[in-house]
Amino acid sequence: MDADVLVLGSGAAGLMLALKSADRGADVLVVTKRRADDTSTNWAQGGVAAVFDPQDSLRQHERDTLRCGAGLSMPGVVRRVVGEAPERVRELEALGVVFSRTRGGLALGREGGHSQRRIVHARDFTGQAIEQALLARVRAHPRIRLVEDQLALDLILESRMRVAARRQRRERCWGAYVMDCRPAPGSRARIRPVLARVTVLATGGCGKVYLYTSNPDVATGDGIAMAYRAGVAVENLEFVQFHPTCLYHPEAKSLLLTEALRGEGARLRTLDGRRFMPGVHAMAELAPRDVVARAIDRELKRRGETHVLLDVTHLPPGRIRARFPNVYSGLRRFGFDLTREPIPVVPAAHYMCGGVRAALTGRTAVAGLLAVGETACTGLHGANRLASNSLLEALVGAHHGAAEAVRQARRAPPAPRAEPWHAQGTHPPLETVVFDHHWGAVRRLMWDLVGIVRSDQRLLYAARLLELLREEIELDYARLRLSRDLVELRNIALVGGLIVESARRRRESRGLHFNLDHPRRERRYDGRSLLLRRHGDGRRARRLAAPANGGL
Ligand SMILES: Cc1cc2nc3c(=O)[nH]c(=O)nc-3n(C[C@H](O)[C@H](O)[C@H](O)COP(=O)(O)OP(=O)(O)OC[C@H]3O[C@@H](n4cnc5c(N)ncnc54)[C@H](O)[C@@H]3O)c2cc1C
Repeated sequence: MDADVLVLGSGAAGLMLALKSADRGADVLVVTKRRADDTSTNWAQGGVAAVFDPQDSLRQHERDTLRCGAGLSMPGVVRRVVGEAPERVRELEALGVVFSRTRGGLALGREGGHSQRRIVHARDFTGQAIEQALLARVRAHPRIRLVEDQLALDLILESRMRVAARRQRRERCWGAYVMDCRPAPGSRARIRPVLARVTVLATGGCGKVYLYTSNPDVATGDGIAMAYRAGVAVENLEFVQFHPTCLYHPEAKSLLLTEALRGEGARLRTLDGRRFMPGVHAMAELAPRDVVARAIDRELKRRGETHVLLDVTHLPPGRIRARFPNVYSGLRRFGFDLTREPIPVVPAAHYMCGGVRAALTGRTAVAGLLAVGETACTGLHGANRLASNSLLEALVGAHHGAAEAVRQARRAPPAPRAEPWHAQGTHPPLETVVFDHHWGAVRRLMWDLVGIVRSDQRLLYAARLLELLREEIELDYARLRLSRDLVELRNIALVGGLIVESARRRRESRGLHFNLDHPRRERRYDGRSLLLRRHGDGRRARRLAAPANGGL
């Protein structure tokens, strides 16, 4: 046994769960596919939503969250998460995170969809402050090992072990197959089974499924893909949040201009300088993100322009520089001065509201498998995420997930022996041009056909194209020597397909999902979310006699 608890991912969810499990006496192994701080957490600018202002109340935070979730958030989950927020923030402070303060206490920002100021932040480096504090604690903990450049490929399932110890009714997870991606001259990437009593998917989101995204390169939906392949239900994947304001610049991969800028008074304008949000929503630029993103999309399509402008030039420059040093210096690198000129922006894929179906404790339908953070769908966000509720969900999920992980680890039966990874007959790819093409093709078609505004025709077209691409990618996966690129490509293609399938099944518009052919919200879908589970892939499997790498 390599660990009591194997955590896949080193963002806020994974690190906090690791710390709390280890504090309860578990031996924890954290593996992460690149550098430890290559996470969305590290990039978060805005902050953590929590009620601290005496004018504010838990009831109002709950109401804002439920309103944003458009009928699909689970009220019990919302109440619990919102209610625990102040405690989780204080806990971060105790772990060394230094949040911005005013004389009266914590400085509170405002973001779209929030009726009050309640965003706890560390200037605009909030995520980095959290990530670094947690990493320092994890690295110093005697019961935790953290290994970088370890890519989890698939879960080890009891039903697929040749000599299953006990055939139980309920599927059980015993760890994951992990590829060591550390450069080792002359040797191939090594893939080995890592055995654990409990495995935690804390693998973050899937923004890389789309051509334009605010997410880091690691966000390829691996946790969702692994869970789906293991037969675990995934849900609400049609609800992809597009952040309205990413820098529009040919060389900027994913520079986000935080919503807090609009909270401080930033205005959106078309290229001729006209403000358009006041005519769209009573909260103007502070309307929920989906409303703002759709309004920008509409202006771009109507006017045939590539971007709109975000303008803070009417605000005091000193205040902007002091409050947003991260955004300010990021923009300076591309030659923009935020305080002097309006900045070109476009929407980009930002956050996955759906994911692996899990309780707030991370519990999934598979024994020994938990999902926490952005990978999980706990019922908090419903059809749309309220800004800065996601770091909060990761922290609350990790808190309860640790207790669940330790409980399950203590009760786990003795582990059976895991099969080694089967890669016989695979060979190195002759060239990588085909992978590069498929990467671009998947992301482009998702952007063009499954973006902010959808239609039946576009979704059907996307489904057909993705099926073709996935068939080719699966064949490559089953016969080629694996690389990180190929593994991630397979995952974005699968998750893209699942997003399309979920979007096609929802024959209404709600929250983040807007379909021109079904523009209204339908009562028959109230309180229901859509689940997808894997069925056999027999047709494809017949094309190769003995597929390797767990492919097909
Ligand atoms: C630019 C930006 C700004 C944001 N701002 C805010 C904000 O202000 N407030 C807020 O609440 N939310 C914000 N969010 C969202 C928030 O940051 C994320 O939802 C949250 O950090 C997710 O945490 P996580 O631990 O679930 O995942 P992450 O922090 O993304 O960590 C995922 C980890 O899993 C690892 N991983 C992935 N696949 C594998 C694999 N196959 N094998 C091994 N390791 C793997 C990754 O390498 C990474 O270490 C922002 C997101 C972005 C991108």
